[in-house]
Amino acid sequence: MLYYSTRDIDNISTASNAILKGLAHDGGLFVPAGTINKLFNKKLLTGNYNELAVNIFSQFLGDFSIPEIKSAIDAAYNEKTFEHQAITPLSQISEQTYCLELWHGPTSAFKDIALQVLPHLLTTAALKSGDDRDIVILTATSGDTGKSALEGFRDVKGVIIIVYFPEKGVSEIQKLQMTTQEGLNVHVIAVQGNFDDTQAGVKQIFNNKVINAKLANEGYRLTSANSINWGRLLPQIVYYFYAYGELVSRGHIQAGKAINFVVPTGNFGNILAGYYAHRLGLPINRLVCAANRNNVLSDFINSGQYNKNRPFYNSLSPSMDILVSSNLERLLFELNGHDPDQIKNWMDQLSKEGLYRLDKETLSKLQEMFWSDYADDQETLATIADTYRSNNYLLDPHSAVGKNVLGKYLAQENSDHPSIILSTASPFKFTGSTSKALYNSSDFMDISELELMKTLSQKTGIPVPKNLAELENKAVIHRQVIAPLEMAEHLEKQLLT
Ligand SMILES: *Cc1c(COP(=O)(O)O)cnc(C)c1O
Repeated sequence: MLYYSTRDIDNISTASNAILKGLAHDGGLFVPAGTINKLFNKKLLTGNYNELAVNIFSQFLGDFSIPEIKSAIDAAYNEKTFEHQAITPLSQISEQTYCLELWHGPTSAFKDIALQVLPHLLTTAALKSGDDRDIVILTATSGDTGKSALEGFRDVKGVIIIVYFPEKGVSEIQKLQMTTQEGLNVHVIAVQGNFDDTQAGVKQIFNNKVINAKLANEGYRLTSANSINWGRLLPQIVYYFYAYGELVSRGHIQAGKAINFVVPTGNFGNILAGYYAHRLGLPINRLVCAANRNNVLSDFINSGQYNKNRPFYNSLSPSMDILVSSNLERLLFELNGHDPDQIKNWMDQLSKEGLYRLDKETLSKLQEMFWSDYADDQETLATIADTYRSNNYLLDPHSAVGKNVLGKYLAQENSDHPSIILSTASPFKFTGSTSKALYNSSDFMDISELELMKTLSQKTGIPVPKNLAELENKAVIHRQVIAPLEMAEHLEKQLLT
């Protein structure tokens, strides 16, 4: 499989080049250039997670050998990195509803699935390119991505990882996860300011020609690990097949029966992987896109108008608080028959006016496959409480948004297809919200999130994931705090002296 940009179909790129570059030269996103062959067959429904992953990766990574793919996958998904041997276990929570738990990795959030394997894809791709400079990964994080990237890239040869987080913009647990990070090639730096300041600082470094030239001279190449990289999207296709295979092997459905997937959505990466799974032939009835109060996506899917001119809310599902979902550009390109001019037009309108509107034909294609609604914070808390009481299953706030929106879908569509909710974080990563939903919140005044983790575990009998339980005994290693304006100079000092 070769790749081109959503904004330019005349330049063809290999898979390894697409992964190394991340973003195409014209600001577009890399997408598969050839036809996507139907892959769905009985063979894909048996075998373990890693075998399935090798099968799917090899469809898309044309210039990687099978042994290269296999070694990347085995290094990413094993008993040391994931606490559950199934990697992404499927829990049934009621007759027709399941949760696919994507959070058994080293940081208890779904981003581990992609960020455990990306470093291996990236270093293999770098070897192929013949460029032997060290890769420097710069990441600005609002929480989950930073820790997940640190765990993925720690001690990977030929890579240095630097994570910047807003000093006051992450939760207590998220901050501890990052400041206690071990590894010889990791740097974690708090930035005085909010997430936007932090992200702007990283962008300035990427755009700073002087620094880039100096670093290149000294044998470094800067790159990012952000969610528009094809190397992050591809690993997410695997678990859609895995979950489907589970339903078949448990005898809950017959092979060929279509099912629904419900996806708590932010940057549109997770749900887009579901779309590609469908293109590979996986029988999917509907992809249900679940949004929180920042409901720009549900408005878009229902009306065809994408409008980011609206207030931004901090919700209880912070990893979905987003107004511009970058990966959507890939879906639009697939739906409009690979027309880069139309994509440029829409993206131009989005950056100039903050909005664009789909034509009727593209909208109806979008609505054939996608259904969408949103849940606000009250509904999210109520869903956590209801699901715990009725199904004895504890959801984190992101997955609860999914469950709530599934309820709205079923009330409207009367679907007899089983539904799988993609569960994106451990409930212990967001103990503040889960405890508030289940118990009288005044009992928990002044209790730290770390203490709450233990209380919640005692009350529910559910064990705390190992990586979170260990936090209280870990030493804080990273204490640097800098101003946004110091970021570039600080990086130079770190790498060049
Ligand atoms: C990143 C994230 C999401 C959103 O996923 P996208 O691929 O950005 O749509 C949802 N839930 C959690 C817990 C996340 O970390």
